[in-house]
Amino acid sequence: MSEIALLTTFASLNLSARILDTLSAEGYQTPTPIQAQAIPPVLAGRDLLGCAQTGTGKTAAFALPLIELLSAGGRPGRRQQRRVARALILAPTRELASQIGQSLRTYGHRCGLRHTVIYGGVSQHRQVRDLEAGVDVIVATPGRLMDLMDQGYVDLGAVEIFVLDEADRMLDMGFIEPIRQIASNLPEDRQTLLFSATMPPKIRQLADSMLRDPVRVSVAPAASAAPLIDQTLYHMPEEHKLAVLGHLLRDERFVRTLVFIKTKHGAERLAKRLRAQGVASGAIHGNKSQGQRERALDEFRTGRCRVLVATDVAARGLDVDGVTHVVNFNLPMEPEAYVHRIGRTGRAGAKGRAISFCSREERGLLRGIERVLGKRIDTREVPAGFELAPEPPSAPVDSRSIGTLPRSPASRPAGARSTPRRGPRPGSKGGHGKNGETPRPSSPGSRRRGAVRGGHRAVRPR
Ligand code: AMP
Repeated sequence: MSEIALLTTFASLNLSARILDTLSAEGYQTPTPIQAQAIPPVLAGRDLLGCAQTGTGKTAAFALPLIELLSAGGRPGRRQQRRVARALILAPTRELASQIGQSLRTYGHRCGLRHTVIYGGVSQHRQVRDLEAGVDVIVATPGRLMDLMDQGYVDLGAVEIFVLDEADRMLDMGFIEPIRQIASNLPEDRQTLLFSATMPPKIRQLADSMLRDPVRVSVAPAASAAPLIDQTLYHMPEEHKLAVLGHLLRDERFVRTLVFIKTKHGAERLAKRLRAQGVASGAIHGNKSQGQRERALDEFRTGRCRVLVATDVAARGLDVDGVTHVVNFNLPMEPEAYVHRIGRTGRAGAKGRAISFCSREERGLLRGIERVLGKRIDTREVPAGFELAPEPPSAPVDSRSIGTLPRSPASRPAGARSTPRRGPRPGSKGGHGKNGETPRPSSPGSRRRGAVRGGHRAVRPR
């Protein structure tokens, strides 16, 4: 670890008292490694190339010095009749842009800076109104910003600091050309900060063309940097996944669970099936309107929904504190996405758990992921009993949705008949593995025989 990273207090990073007060009010005690490395050179006016991903504290790594620089020398805007944007932050998605906006509000509320967040998919009315009123910082996704620039609403001529966040995601989403065009409207003598989780050759080229003698800082990807994320994988046929997930979610320790799935349609259907099992679940994917996404996110944040089912694209930049579990219902097509996904749990010192389901067809993807991680993921077997066997006539269940798993009363869909039961409730608490996530089914045969008490004939977690 570099000398800089050994500095352990925010005060030693030369941040002003009002920002230090805000940070202690937020409960931040020490800077994360990316913050310790990035804040001093950014405050010194240097360009920066940061290799870090969501979950490492990178937003504060650029937002804190940015606020400090813009608010130094008195409240901004006093010198000007109307505020003109002095910083531009570009992010690939509206969720990430909104979250950066929230961070600016949190960290900068004592500094008198005004900012606006600009993204597509909503009316431009409020955004235009904010721009016309004058802001110090614009946070934007590239597409809508270009639209508003074309309409003459955006003046970038006074930008002193330009931040490009999640540059590799920008590349994936085809934003590199728009970024170049936007950058060509910025003053040459600005300060530029570029953050990217990965550094493929195209990002290096972009960095070379935009940054001047940058300081390079890097933190290891979440997977290796975060021993706090406990990773487990279960092999199972695709058609068993819903049953296993439903079973896992009966455990109360799955307080806030983010489930990743391959398709938009699949996300919607899975959330619906989980709701039918009595698990409060929402979905977030590209077919939802901004309002619907925000509602789903809000319900997840506030705990009204315990489960949020998301596609990778929809979840980009999503930042929710206290995610206890990430479940990969499908393995991602790109190995790097695995690291992004699991980085949503185990944040800021909390223990997080990532559980992946892998069907036979996904084994090639698993090999790719393990290559990127540089290690094997701890693998456990799903015990017998999750097979989709015919239901005994006395147990009216929807075999499409839960196979043969026993249901607790809470998870029974409305209208389903209850069957008298002897012994403890299947899936009830007690006898959980160390993480409380080893599926423990009672097989249909054993339920009939009454041989499995409470469904706890289980596979002991290793
Ligand atoms: P980010 O990587 O910017 O998405 O930040 C990840 C999470 O860590 C956010 O929820 C931040 O509020 C939180 N965070 C950032 N910096 C710190 C810090 N120094 N101490 C504690 N939490 C932090």
